[in-house]
Amino acid sequence: MKEKKQSDVAVLLGYAGSYKGLTFLGLGLSAVAMILGMLPYICVWLVARDLIAVAPDWTQAAGVARYGWMAFAFAVAGIVVYFAALMCTHLAAFRTASNIRKQGMAHLMKAPLGFFDSNASGLLRNRLDGAASETETLLAHNLADIVGSIAMLLAMLALMFVFDWRMGAACLLAAAVSILAMLSMMGGKNAGLMAEYQAAQDVMSKAGTEYVRGIPVVKVFQQTVYSFKAFKQAIEDYSAKAERYQGDICKTPQAINLTATEGAFVFLVPVALLLAPAALRSGSFASFLTDFAFYAVFSAIVSTALARIMFAASGMMLASTALGRIAQVMGAPAMEITDNPQVPKDNSVAFRDVSFTYDGAEIPALDHISFSVEPGQTVALVGPSGGGKTTAASLIPRFWDVSSGCVEVGGVDVRQTDPHVLMDQVAFVFQNTHLFKASILENVRAARPEATREEVLSALSAAQCGDILDKLPDGADTMIGTEGTYLSGGEQQRVALARAILKNAPIVVLDEATAFADPENEALIQKAFQKLTEGRTVVMIAHRLSTVVGADRIIVLDSGRVAEQGTHEELLEAGGLYSRMWADYQQAVKWRISADKEVE
Ligand code: ADP
Ligand code: MG
Repeated sequence: MKEKKQSDVAVLLGYAGSYKGLTFLGLGLSAVAMILGMLPYICVWLVARDLIAVAPDWTQAAGVARYGWMAFAFAVAGIVVYFAALMCTHLAAFRTASNIRKQGMAHLMKAPLGFFDSNASGLLRNRLDGAASETETLLAHNLADIVGSIAMLLAMLALMFVFDWRMGAACLLAAAVSILAMLSMMGGKNAGLMAEYQAAQDVMSKAGTEYVRGIPVVKVFQQTVYSFKAFKQAIEDYSAKAERYQGDICKTPQAINLTATEGAFVFLVPVALLLAPAALRSGSFASFLTDFAFYAVFSAIVSTALARIMFAASGMMLASTALGRIAQVMGAPAMEITDNPQVPKDNSVAFRDVSFTYDGAEIPALDHISFSVEPGQTVALVGPSGGGKTTAASLIPRFWDVSSGCVEVGGVDVRQTDPHVLMDQVAFVFQNTHLFKASILENVRAARPEATREEVLSALSAAQCGDILDKLPDGADTMIGTEGTYLSGGEQQRVALARAILKNAPIVVLDEATAFADPENEALIQKAFQKLTEGRTVVMIAHRLSTVVGADRIIVLDSGRVAEQGTHEELLEAGGLYSRMWADYQQAVKWRISADKEVE
């Protein structure tokens, strides 16, 4: 447990960078402040000693006023130094949190785009942001308090020998008992339970967020009970864990801990009673009394110090889970970026013996695939669902990197190209289009931020979005996703096509839509496709074979392998998988036509 804590702090200090020194300075100052804070108690002891020595002739106690002023000065100095310490640790903590955010974002920027399919980027950013803030308390307060408290406990150890070690030991005994009680709550076999308890808390807060986010859906679909179930389950789980952790494990140690910290007297008074007779006999009762007075006053600050450590320990745990989340973000796969990028020579695309296996998958999604697309050609990827079409298409703009072999754009391995150059070269429209919560205009402009309004509007019109703009209250300036202005799947696809058209990249990778095939949209999408693909190199995933007939080359992917490739005629002649698919397709079309006739 202890080792793990230290490594957490080490990890955090790693992020502090050049502010590491400031953190150490702050911690040092905090220790000094704590010692300064103890000195007034010693002054009180000196006053008591002098007064008792001259009692009852108080006028002889000349030094008393001086001790009073000294106590005051030490107290003030302690406060000032503590402020300075916190100033240092806060500065360092804020800078560290900002470093964490910067490094995390920089790391995420390097992740392949495909990573964000299963890890929403907004969620990751929120997680990073939250976790970075949670580390602030540890660096700004907790560490300083821990170091200060330890300095104080060490100083106490020294004071034991200065005054009366037996009474000092009694005070320390109280501290030791409460520290042991605290450790038993957090350490050893209970650490696992503590982690479970914290994890349950995490799950609960996430389920809560999800529940609130889902309220619009709940309202629309009247799913009150179902959506609430997960949230309720998380709360119950947490409450069970909390009860178990706090009831079974914390009850006794916490009671002991509080008793020992608040009631150091329990140890001190019996010791004093035992020592009193001997002091009386030896005639040193006066000094015995002053020592007792000192420890009686002093034991009060022991409890503050321990409460601080206790508080800090919970901050440590909070920071530890936060660091776990940060590590998750930092653990995102990074795309390798070449140091001396090569420039694509033309607009061709080639797959050379490409294999690709998704993380955690057993069998490869692509298994030694080779094919090429000449500049200006249209190549269609067809085949049964799960054959690897989407995977192959997503390797071209480097959503993922190949496991072996290589994907070339313009005769250059995509991994040897500057990512920005590659992005300029390749436009892609996949089925899971993301529109931002912004105006349609801005959504399209995202493809090329420097485009003028006219260029955006002409891209929208090329993508057959005229009817969409007409029906929206503010045309292209309408915000999407607010106040009921939601677009249908087919409409979203057309806006995405406008984006790709505006980008004006020489190579287009697209996944033909089938999911949103209401007839009106479909006809418009087809038209938009045509505009987008005119004069460009096209790699298209075709779901309806009617669009495939005219392709320069058809690649049939089945179970991650190229089953066959060629033109429509060649493949029909070959009589393989494609010809069977074509026959099925013809049959389906016939059925549809006869079904339509029946309706008429
Ligand atoms: P297609 O587009 O031809 O339907 P895909 O390229 O989507 O095929 O899928 C090819 C194979 O890879 C399938 O077995 C599928 O289950 C798997 N696959 C697709 N996407 C992922 C992913 N993100 N993680 C793991 N496996 C995936
Ligand atoms: Mg697919």
